Amino acid sequence: MTTRELAGQDKRALWHPFTQQQGWCEEEPLIIERAQGCTLYDTGGNGYLDGVSSLWCNVHGHGHPAIDRAVRDQLDRVAHTTMLGLSHPGAIELAERLVELAPDGLQRVFYSDNGSTAAEVALKMAFQYWRHRDMPERDGFICLRDAYHGDTIGSVSVGGIDLFHACFGPLLFDAWQAEPGDIDAIAALLREQGERVAAVIVEPLVQGAAGILTHPDGYLRDVRALCDEHDVLLICDEVATGFGRTGTMFACEQEGVAPDLMCVAKGLTGGYMPLAATLATERIYEAFLGEHEDLKTFFHGHTYTGNPLACAAALATLDVFEQERTLEAVAPKIALLHELLDELVAPLAGVREIRRRGLMVGIELHEFPLEARMGHQVTLAARRRGAVIRPLGDVVVLMPPLAMSADEICHLVQITAASVAEATARPVLLAAAA
Ligand SMILES: *Cc1c(COP(=O)(O)O)cnc(C)c1O
Repeated sequence: MTTRELAGQDKRALWHPFTQQQGWCEEEPLIIERAQGCTLYDTGGNGYLDGVSSLWCNVHGHGHPAIDRAVRDQLDRVAHTTMLGLSHPGAIELAERLVELAPDGLQRVFYSDNGSTAAEVALKMAFQYWRHRDMPERDGFICLRDAYHGDTIGSVSVGGIDLFHACFGPLLFDAWQAEPGDIDAIAALLREQGERVAAVIVEPLVQGAAGILTHPDGYLRDVRALCDEHDVLLICDEVATGFGRTGTMFACEQEGVAPDLMCVAKGLTGGYMPLAATLATERIYEAFLGEHEDLKTFFHGHTYTGNPLACAAALATLDVFEQERTLEAVAPKIALLHELLDELVAPLAGVREIRRRGLMVGIELHEFPLEARMGHQVTLAARRRGAVIRPLGDVVVLMPPLAMSADEICHLVQITAASVAEATARPVLLAAAA
């Protein structure tokens, strides 16, 4: 099929996620056919730097030989079996490895398929845990304003991004929302509601979907201390921050924090396959033990939970972290990225603020009318220059794979700077054209 035919069929048959289809159908879609390293190639053979790690999940680059091989080898054995009533070597080995890597005390691995379900599982485990502990009054959750934990109803209930979540209000359970980064807000909520709280759920260090909103140093540590004080569970959603994105394997490590429940997904398979895990402490796990008829079982599980191909990709991803010393190699890249942002992007007239933590960067533009779709205009300008990025409203996000080279990082920031400059120079004209 030609690119033109594919584009026509796309517009006839598809409904894209987080996409206003009316606008989508007025533009030419970029159709990616293959990728190598940190470059995506469209159906015309044009290359684009993968500036957002294919939605925050690619780690070691595309087509990494070791991960490719691991998935192919697994395919020669079996593509999928089930974790319900059976086990398989990849899931077992990966659980061991995750427990080794995770903060202290997280000793149990419960698989699912994506970040939203990893968060759902954590919420349901926390809720059920207190039932088993005979404290059913602990049935509420504290979350942060502008939080994002996924798009399923439970994870949206502890979400705080009005643009995505407000419409579903009547479908959701209530949760207490605290101002992000303000420890007094959580302290006050816990003082008032402490006895009724099952868990506090946070994205550690940085709230990604909020627009790369960074928390002050020490905040996560203080949240942990408050949870301990009130005997409330702490859920850290490391779906975006995990697997080196903030410079350490997990963001929690930077504050010396060990949560009671931890969610991982996006980078877990290096960005190859849908796989997620919710890690739990032994204290939580043990509360679910009992005779069959005690009905303490955690009644939750997805068909593709712990899929063997995905586990193979995840194991290979962790091997590559060791073999390529990825975390050591990423430190100077982070420094370079931040330096280049200060030099090339911060001085631009259209830029209000740059927020960053490791490889997670949010470039907030000055206010433009909503219909100008300024973030989107920057994306289109970047595409013409050979980079794929995706904004969050008027926050231009950069989130390169950990594997991106220094040269590619330079190129990505140069493209971003030129694209922001071009798009913000004539907002009104561009708005009219859009
Ligand atoms: C992306 C994300 C999720 C949802 O993950 P999906 O795999 O898209 O369901 C949950 N939490 C955080 C922090 C995320 O960034």
